[in-house]
Amino acid sequence: MQTTIIKAKIFEDLNSIGIKGAVVSVERLQDIETDILHLATSGEVDLEINKDIPQYQYRYEKIISGKKYKYDYNNDLKGAKSILILAVPMPVHQVGFTINGNTIDVLIPSDFMQRNASKELDEYLKSTLNTYGHKALKAKLPLKLLAVRSGLAEYGRNNISYVEGMGSRLFLTAYYVDCQLPEDNWREPVRMNLCSTCRICMNNCPTKAIIDNKRVILAERCLVLYNEFEDDIPNWIKKEYHNALIGCVKCEEKCPMNLRYKNQLVTLSTFNEEQTKEILQTKNADDLSLETYKMIYDYEINEYYHLFHRNFSLLVKED
Ligand code: SF4
Ligand code: SF4
Repeated sequence: MQTTIIKAKIFEDLNSIGIKGAVVSVERLQDIETDILHLATSGEVDLEINKDIPQYQYRYEKIISGKKYKYDYNNDLKGAKSILILAVPMPVHQVGFTINGNTIDVLIPSDFMQRNASKELDEYLKSTLNTYGHKALKAKLPLKLLAVRSGLAEYGRNNISYVEGMGSRLFLTAYYVDCQLPEDNWREPVRMNLCSTCRICMNNCPTKAIIDNKRVILAERCLVLYNEFEDDIPNWIKKEYHNALIGCVKCEEKCPMNLRYKNQLVTLSTFNEEQTKEILQTKNADDLSLETYKMIYDYEINEYYHLFHRNFSLLVKED
């Protein structure tokens, strides 16, 4: 009975600030592990074919071998019984850089600005569970798959997860909880109905990574695989493909499921001419002037500054 009250309290508090969630039993992780392994055996992820792409090997070997995610919940939180999966609304941010008196606006995708929101959520969940004599701990799990299977989200043709009321402007997070909260419906992964007649993301993808008759995108063609890693960006990726400081927003920006929701773009203060020059000349965040570093920190770019520096240089590179 108490667990019904705990769940109701958490969901009421979180819903009031726009966060949506679902609960599943930790035992569902067996299904998640099976789904991930199926990726390898079904041929949808083929390490052999992509053996010359270090980024592909690095990312998918870790996923398939079970090293990327941690399914041993008792090791993380002793007595873990439930998993709370949450979708937190997060707009795309736009930041300006000044070059020769002109402002160049560049986008930062939703899931790269989550430090402050994550910290608040973490504090809220831990203290709320604590008042009922229980614990919560952040879990390192395949979040999109978990969200879709729990009923919280649906996949788009672009393999991104969509949540009612947010579209894909969100970040996902999951927590182990050491009590058996009432569960939501576990189901097979589903794709949004609208995707069956829509091809907008496919046509808007600069690298043609989205294939009409495939369930998963061609990861080896997706910009995200390259500009979120330190390895050299391959030559076949043209300058005009780059569209964000990190990651890529092209398959989301014109998606009808996102166009329904307003106010999803937040504009941050622009870096002036001197700061923009400084950023282009400085590879390490620690070597930036204090004023520029503060902005980088506030914009939550500091942790991946080395990638941002490389990606931004590519975006503004002279032909
Ligand atoms: S753009 Fe169309 S096909 Fe692509 S995810 Fe959105 S609704 Fe689905
Ligand atoms: S993230 Fe970019 S490159 Fe990857 S599928 Fe979407 S549009 Fe294509």
